Amino acid sequence: MPKEFPVVWFQGAACSGCAISVLNSLSPTIKNVLLDELVPGKHINLKFMPTIMTGSGKIVMDILLETQKAKDYILIVEGAIPENGFGDIGEKSMESVVEELAEDASAIVSLGSCSAFGGIPKGNPNPTKVKSVEKFLDFKNIKKPVINIPGCPPHPDWFVGTVANILLFGIPELDELSRPRLFYGKLIHENCERRPYFDKGKFAKKFSDEGCLYELGCKGPYTNADCPIRSWNSGVNWCIQNGSPCIGCVEPEFPDLEAMYKKTKWNNK
Ligand code: SF4
Ligand code: SF4
Repeated sequence: MPKEFPVVWFQGAACSGCAISVLNSLSPTIKNVLLDELVPGKHINLKFMPTIMTGSGKIVMDILLETQKAKDYILIVEGAIPENGFGDIGEKSMESVVEELAEDASAIVSLGSCSAFGGIPKGNPNPTKVKSVEKFLDFKNIKKPVINIPGCPPHPDWFVGTVANILLFGIPELDELSRPRLFYGKLIHENCERRPYFDKGKFAKKFSDEGCLYELGCKGPYTNADCPIRSWNSGVNWCIQNGSPCIGCVEPEFPDLEAMYKKTKWNNK
């Protein structure tokens, strides 16, 4: 019998886009991830996940409680954590539920930029006073390993690869922002197909121009992710290939830059 790893997927201040992205996992498919052995001899048992579970109310809250009591589960948090009064689940504040779940988790995965860094809900003026998961746990003095998988949304491979890595080897090597180096170890700019234009000083002046997108606000030189190598949408394309500058969606500064598609102070670093 394969060893089973219970997983609880909590959704805080989020749009569910991270869940949708992960559900589009191509290899393995999400069906393989949820029903088969993710790695030989081990499979995950998704106990609680608001976007896809069919149950609701007391039935699912009881399952959540049982899983929590049994301990030793992987906690996935999608979304930032709002201050009390701005989000409830099972008639309790999101803050208190995450606090309880975090205490008994064996590892915590912060999925998406909102969970990892605050992201869009934390955008100025942060009306619901959200915190990233790491900041929230610090605030509550809860010491647990947290793996950040930022992105707006994150690539499905970043998530599935990280969970497979946890099952096989434990926590993967992380960078200074707690991101797996495996996926966030290189600058977009290092592998960008428009890099030869940058090196020759040929810059696009408007969208759809040939050339490097730096002067249209591309954050590739300051953004760490493997999008140019991995590609998105089942390998079809990625932001810059599609003519859009990288907006730095995996970095803590996202989205509070001066403008997403304009040259900013950040580009003048
Ligand atoms: S488009 Fe962006 S990532 Fe690509 S070379 Fe230009 S500045 Fe670098
Ligand atoms: S290219 Fe930049 S904006 Fe696009 S997904 Fe990758 S990190 Fe995010």
